[in-house]
Amino acid sequence: MKFLRNYITSILFIIIIVIFIGLYLFEDSNWLFGAGLIFSILGILLSLVFLRSWIHEFSYLKESAMLDGLTGIYNHKVFKDRLGEEIRRAKRYKKQLSVFFMDIDKFKLINDNYGHVFGDFVIKETARIIKGNLRNFDVVSRYGGEEFSAVLINSRKRDTRNTAERIRKTIESHVFSYNGFEANITISIGISEYPDDGEEVRDLIRDADGAMYSAKKDGGNLVKP
Ligand code: GH3
Ligand code: MG
Ligand code: MG
Repeated sequence: MKFLRNYITSILFIIIIVIFIGLYLFEDSNWLFGAGLIFSILGILLSLVFLRSWIHEFSYLKESAMLDGLTGIYNHKVFKDRLGEEIRRAKRYKKQLSVFFMDIDKFKLINDNYGHVFGDFVIKETARIIKGNLRNFDVVSRYGGEEFSAVLINSRKRDTRNTAERIRKTIESHVFSYNGFEANITISIGISEYPDDGEEVRDLIRDADGAMYSAKKDGGNLVKP
């Protein structure tokens, strides 16, 4: 609504400017010329102010459509789009990349034992820990409820396994403390690599997801392969 209001106001100012420019171009009157000049300058200044606020609002809307509301990291769609872009880039420069799939173990129990508000806190805090253990240019997202994914740019599986282990251990030893409750959780992580495990978005997602489920099957709190 604010966006629309600013838009309409700016359009009105632009119309006023055009009218006054017309008036002092075609009327031979001094006071009209003076008033027109003042209004035009005022109109231009106000239009600039509104233009700035539109740009601000537009980038806010664009950003909030890309981010997950709870955690502030990228959403599922951005993850897939960025993975596609990064695969194309890796192909062009003959580089590798790794994909992580991460899922909190037995998260239902957290909700059941401590409530959904605490569950939300755990999801938020887990996202923060994951992001804090990756590089700024890696793509970190919330893939779904208590599932996270990441693209580690220019990185082979053999190098990123240590990073995944660091995330797993940090989460295992972290005490999640909120609103008088304290809990520990663990996470299972599956990794796939471009190009060894596939050259398409779906291949890399399938393999990382499969590795993550294999980690769960073996008891959870593991990194696979
Ligand atoms: P597993 O060890 O196999 O991963 O079991 P799990 O209990 O972690 O996994 P499952 O997929 O069975 O349950 C996930 C639960 O996460 C179910 C859903 O209610 C909960 N959940 C999903 N999104 C949210 C959320 O945004 N907030 C909270 N508090 N809970 C969520
Ligand atoms: Mg889970
Ligand atoms: Mg899950």
